[in-house]
Amino acid sequence: MKNYHFNKRVLVTGGAGFLGSHLCEALLNRNCDVVCADNFFTGRRGNIARLLDNPSFEVLRHDITFPLFVEVDEIYNLACPASPPHYQHDPVQTTKTSVLGAINMLGLAKRVGAKIFQASTSEVYGDPDVHPQPESYWGRVNPIGTRSCYDEGKRCAETLFFDYYRQSKVKIKVARIFNTYGPNMHPNDGRVVSNFIMQALRGEPITIYGDGTQTRSFCYVTDLIAGFFKLMDSPDEVTGPINLGNPGEFTMLELAETIVRLTGSQSKLIFEPLPSDDPKRRQPDITQAAEILDWKPNMPLEEGLRHTVEYFRQYA
Ligand code: NAD
Ligand code: UDP
Repeated sequence: MKNYHFNKRVLVTGGAGFLGSHLCEALLNRNCDVVCADNFFTGRRGNIARLLDNPSFEVLRHDITFPLFVEVDEIYNLACPASPPHYQHDPVQTTKTSVLGAINMLGLAKRVGAKIFQASTSEVYGDPDVHPQPESYWGRVNPIGTRSCYDEGKRCAETLFFDYYRQSKVKIKVARIFNTYGPNMHPNDGRVVSNFIMQALRGEPITIYGDGTQTRSFCYVTDLIAGFFKLMDSPDEVTGPINLGNPGEFTMLELAETIVRLTGSQSKLIFEPLPSDDPKRRQPDITQAAEILDWKPNMPLEEGLRHTVEYFRQYA
């Protein structure tokens, strides 16, 4: 779309959250004008405090389950709580955020001719019986469980993205993000990396859910944001869905032991019940990201955890 601005204008929904705040900063560094729209359910002004003085940065308190009227060239749709305790707090609102939010943002993209990125998730694979998970795998998702508001909401959002692409020729970019960690995560976020680090720094017991043999693959946030840009800058025919994550796979016991060692903590491990439908294994197959986007993560887990521990010290 022709406009009177020199800079590209970019909308980031969920821009005050963990990933969104890193993305807003990286976009400003790319000389974009950034509009951050967030309802501050899990996001924090503190995450974007250092951006507020930048004349190219604008914040809107807005819930994306309602339409938004702004003129932009690109949209990154990140709004949605990502931590299980947070997305299960108000599951109906979680589904609304994914589904109505996608409809509203896709409608906006269609109206203004913007390219639109969707922060989808490895949760679309559910508790997978294919390992590692390639994009061609359709998943194994419980439609009526406690995680379903998130998993099925994100799956329906993907459906909407591809229907707007086929029906209305909207330019879409769908990334399936695997577990990502780093600074700006909320100290009470409830996800495993923030829980373990805060517990280790405070000398509290480390809460292992289940027997701790379940696995996840952890990507450092700066690697992930580089992947967002590779996908967004790729030719229009590259729609995704495309996996973005770090293939290094660890059990929760290994993660806990690593964090205890890195922090020099005296914390002991305690075992608590496994939440329902908790996936047993998760590891991205990133062949497509490597071949199509020339992207791969670089940050080793221990080094990424060291940066993250330094960030969390202020809250311990
Ligand atoms: P986060 O909870 O830190 O950020 C989500 C942001 O969205 C918050 O700022 C929150 O206030 C905002 N938000 C929630 N509902 C909203 C609504 N209705 N309207 C406007 N804003 C709303 O989570 P995150 O880790 O930064 O995740 C960002 C996106 O990436 C999410 O869509 C999530 O599903 C996806 N994702 C993240 C991960 C990960 O490991 N971090 C993995 C897979 C997918
Ligand atoms: N987990 C844990 N202790 C915690 C928090 C989480 O053992 O204090 C486990 C959880 O059961 C899951 C894994 O860590 O198996 C990752 O959980 P998280 O909530 O970070 O993300 P997700 O399950 O969505 O991948």
